Amino acid sequence: MIDIHSHILPGVDDGAKTEEDSLAMAREAVAQGITAIVATPHNKNGKYDNDRHSIINSVEILSELFVKEDIPLIILPGQENRINGDILEDMKNGNILPINDSKYLFIEFPSANVPRYASQMLFDIQVAGYTPVIVHPERNQELIEHPGKLYEFVKKGALTQVTAASVVGKFGKNIQKFSHDLIEANLTHFVASDAHNTTTRGFCMHDAFHEIKNKYGSDYFYMFLENSQLLVDNMNVNRMEPSQVKKKKFLGLF
Ligand code: FE
Repeated sequence: MIDIHSHILPGVDDGAKTEEDSLAMAREAVAQGITAIVATPHNKNGKYDNDRHSIINSVEILSELFVKEDIPLIILPGQENRINGDILEDMKNGNILPINDSKYLFIEFPSANVPRYASQMLFDIQVAGYTPVIVHPERNQELIEHPGKLYEFVKKGALTQVTAASVVGKFGKNIQKFSHDLIEANLTHFVASDAHNTTTRGFCMHDAFHEIKNKYGSDYFYMFLENSQLLVDNMNVNRMEPSQVKKKKFLGLF
């Protein structure tokens, strides 16, 4: 299985701090059945900047270390871009790194809201020839309250990725429920770990895929597995017709 979202590079953001941390994460990833992992350090999130060149460099170093340590894990370069007004400019400047240099670009919203310019930005990214992948929409407060906004983004061509830990309830019941709402409404296309370490923000990939297979059957299980492979191979991914998240009953008033 391929994990398309991780903070495994050492010392570049709030993920692995040292090479030892990275190795511990890599060994855990292998134990979970992961064969290839995309390193997606934060970029322009207000705290961490990681441009294309530095990420590619760091991935090469870590890749050599995996070989030296006999860890059977392929590492690929990526970047988690906090949405900001400079993305198109940064594409031209060569600061942006789509996942494994494909057409797929990770876009992260702030956790509390969705900026007003998001819709236009997602459109502009597509006009520039890229497909935005909105990461962990299930952890965004505004999208939890107004899932119709995510539906609009997906309708207009964006893809989304839910976090394995959310699917299994590590971020609480509400976020777990919303993750499953998104799967059921065909509003998400990838399941990835967003692992930062091996403890508090671990992989949970084995458990999440197990839960998906149990709850939704083999078709969904294989679709999610295949989509991550298709993404890193820069192929078109499986998309099913999205629907609106069903309004949940609130205190029995509806
Ligand atoms: Fe992340």
